[in-house]
Amino acid sequence: MLGILISAVMLLVWNGSHFFQQISFATDRIDGGIQIASTALTLNVALILFGWRRYVDVQHESQMRAESEDRAALIATTDAMTGLLNRKGFADRATVLAGAACGDGERMVMISVQMHRFKGINDRHGYDVGDELLRRLAAAILAVVDREVAVARLSGDEFALAMVRSPGDRPAIEIIGEALIRAITKPYQVEDKHIQVGVFVGIAMAEAGPVVVAELLRRADIALDHAKSSRSARPVWFDGGMERALLAHSEIEQGIRFALEHEQFEPHFEPQIDLETGELVGFETLARWNHTLSGIIMPDMFIPVAEEIGVIGRLSEQVMRAAFVHAATWDASINLSVNVSPAMLGDPWLAQKIVRLLRETSFPANRLVVEITESSLFTDIDQARTIVTSLKNQGIRLALDDFGTGFSSLSHLRTLPFDVIKIDRSFIATIQRDRQSAAIVRAVTTLATALDVPVTVEGIEDASTHAAVLAMGCAVGQGWYFGKPMSAERAGEMVRARKNHGVPVSSAGPIKAAG
Ligand code: C2E
Ligand code: CA
Ligand code: CA
Repeated sequence: MLGILISAVMLLVWNGSHFFQQISFATDRIDGGIQIASTALTLNVALILFGWRRYVDVQHESQMRAESEDRAALIATTDAMTGLLNRKGFADRATVLAGAACGDGERMVMISVQMHRFKGINDRHGYDVGDELLRRLAAAILAVVDREVAVARLSGDEFALAMVRSPGDRPAIEIIGEALIRAITKPYQVEDKHIQVGVFVGIAMAEAGPVVVAELLRRADIALDHAKSSRSARPVWFDGGMERALLAHSEIEQGIRFALEHEQFEPHFEPQIDLETGELVGFETLARWNHTLSGIIMPDMFIPVAEEIGVIGRLSEQVMRAAFVHAATWDASINLSVNVSPAMLGDPWLAQKIVRLLRETSFPANRLVVEITESSLFTDIDQARTIVTSLKNQGIRLALDDFGTGFSSLSHLRTLPFDVIKIDRSFIATIQRDRQSAAIVRAVTTLATALDVPVTVEGIEDASTHAAVLAMGCAVGQGWYFGKPMSAERAGEMVRARKNHGVPVSSAGPIKAAG
């Protein structure tokens, strides 16, 4: 540009002087020629200066234009709140990464991250606190990964990461997923509030060949949904089976609505045994869908869908009511446990609804134990506390279910007045061969004993596990060794047999007579 300008100026100087040379000839070399030549020179200098000014202006204009274009592009591709990429920016960056991945025989990896019921935080603490927390979470996510990873906030509480890794890097990717979970679920202080959020993580790795970014993100989202419905505190990888399950989902949804209308949800009962004496002390109520064509359908097929479509409360009430009606006719020493889903704790009327069911069925409150999983305590610990306090005021007991699988178990023992801790089946299943599981069960039992809270273990499948958990000091147990979940009729028979004859109804379990 400068070169062109200098050439143009030189041309002007030459043309100018040539022109004035001719003029001086025409005026018969009079002295005035000198004056004309100096005017020409002045004109030329003015032209040079004018040209230079123009050059500087053009240069400035184009720089400004480039800067404002950059700024517009940045705004269009950045999430204003967190400074991460937005959906468009992420798609662009991921597409570039995908091109690189394809070329080097490496694979593109997509991680979907979503906070667990973040809306509750906004509702409870206000949007300013919610926004600040999102900014902190964004920073925490960035701190986990290196600079080559594309990180975006796609919407409200949904984040995504795209990176390129080799197919053998799965364990390392999983470690990233776990680090994200740890970074997000640690306690944050925003203003004067101490907030802890749960999170779910889904991961998808592209197959060999060209990558369609949107498709890979969809797969990571399917894995994320899976993590949500199985309440997994660990990252979940996408697999083809999840996609097939998605197709069945809409059929299940229709079926659930029909089943609610026609009261097809019914309680089954799993015996709970005093591990020391072998006596039957109660039952856990477990929902079953008694489907006209398919027969008995297990809860993992319908509970997550019922939660998702917002009918879990109705469904659980249907099951509870029937369970209370049956159990009200059993011996007064038999307790009944019922499961309450995380979604149900969002209902401020939950305690009142349960109390009304008790009144209507004449089942005594002091024989009821409400089981709450840890993950349900995350969103709104204050609301959970209100519900729990109302339940406890009525004489209902409270169990912390699936202990050990949640995000930060021990803190909940201090914040809510649990009467029972139920150690998750996954620890019990491996207690004999995995030293870590055994150590966890032993430590939890010691801690619970110190807090004066009895421990119930689930998933006891054989005599040696029974002996092991008894030796560790666990009070009550349940599992297939003592009896699988059974119909109300069979449960009633079991209660009566225990009372009348002291005969163990379970073929395997050592159930003894009541004293
Ligand atoms: P959960 O509360 O942890 O229930 C224990 C699950 O472990 C039950 O599965 C039970 O059948 C199973 N189980 C018990 N002992 C053994 C054993 O020795 N070996 C093995 N392999 N499994 C054993 P189920 O009935 O499929 O229930 C699954 C989950 O569905 C429950 O987990 C609970 O979270 C949920 N659920 C069940 N009924 C209801 C309900 O009425 N309302 C709500 N909200 N959730 C329910
Ligand atoms: Ca349970
Ligand atoms: Ca459980």
